[in-house]
Amino acid sequence: MLALQKLRPEPGITLREVAAPAMLGEGDVLIAVEATGICGTDLHIAAWTSGYASMRDAMPVTLGHEFCGVIRATGAGVPAAAMGQRVTVRPSVLCHRCAACAAGDADHCTGRKGIGIGRDGALAAKVIAPWENCVPAPEGMAPDIAALTEPMTVCHEAVRTADIRGGERVLVIGPGTIGQGIALFAEAAGASEVVIVGHGDAARLATLNELGFHATADSAGSSLAAAVAPWTDVGLFDVVIEAAGVPALVPEALALLRKRGVLVIAGIHSAPVSIDLTALVRDHKQIRGTYRAPVETWPIVLEYLEHNRERVEKLISARLPMSRVGEGFRLAAAKSASKVIILQDEVAA
Ligand SMILES: [Zn+2]
Ligand SMILES: [Zn+2]
Repeated sequence: MLALQKLRPEPGITLREVAAPAMLGEGDVLIAVEATGICGTDLHIAAWTSGYASMRDAMPVTLGHEFCGVIRATGAGVPAAAMGQRVTVRPSVLCHRCAACAAGDADHCTGRKGIGIGRDGALAAKVIAPWENCVPAPEGMAPDIAALTEPMTVCHEAVRTADIRGGERVLVIGPGTIGQGIALFAEAAGASEVVIVGHGDAARLATLNELGFHATADSAGSSLAAAVAPWTDVGLFDVVIEAAGVPALVPEALALLRKRGVLVIAGIHSAPVSIDLTALVRDHKQIRGTYRAPVETWPIVLEYLEHNRERVEKLISARLPMSRVGEGFRLAAAKSASKVIILQDEVAA
């Protein structure tokens, strides 16, 4: 089968023929992949920016961690009913050996491996995953929508971390898929206003406009403060959620926050940043980090996707067959697309 792989710890990705997975371990299922999203993480891995050195041990490894497919074979210990189910998959696989796993505290497993990062992923026709990581997709949900579940759980967790109260004004920095999903969940959490700012992001801001968010701005050629000035006249923001991964924006974001406001960092930053802690202390501001969502978030997000199908469709700006996966990466990297979904050829045909 064709698989998009990371072969070596250096820039680059390779589309090549590999053997389809055959042997299923206890508790594993074989999934015929239907749709896989390309995300910022995949772009970082392709460009080989810092933060993914631990992948070295898994190489060559197939990428792809946001996906949906149908279970076509089951290993020992998997219920018979699993066969034929359309599932989306939590990519973080537990080690079942560390102290946290032994204590039943899955969220703190220290030996987890990510599907599509630390073990073979779903930018291929077939992938193996533990049955315990599979979350059934609602009846009739399209595979490309179900493939949005993983990134949308990240968005949901960012908004939950921000603890948005009804009527609060929220600034989202970064209009990519994560920023778009954060805007949707911030609105659902009762924010009275959601402002989204990008940087040379006309296409992705246009997607936000289509999603119904009209308070958008582009900071290219100006500062962040200048770009959002139309909304700070009436006061600073209650919550700022950063989803751009640009370290220099962190101090600028803090300056846009009201006293006791909350800054949530969702972006992956490849360099440290210096901030004015005295100002932070005196204004009682908070900085919170957010990352992977807990397991309970998955059904909540699937329900949101099901009930907002027409709207969330707009998050997907390109659907390409596996043979054009390289083009998909280029589109995503050029910011000319929001979410790019790769369809396996039998689905695309
Ligand atoms: Zn992702
Ligand atoms: Zn563990």
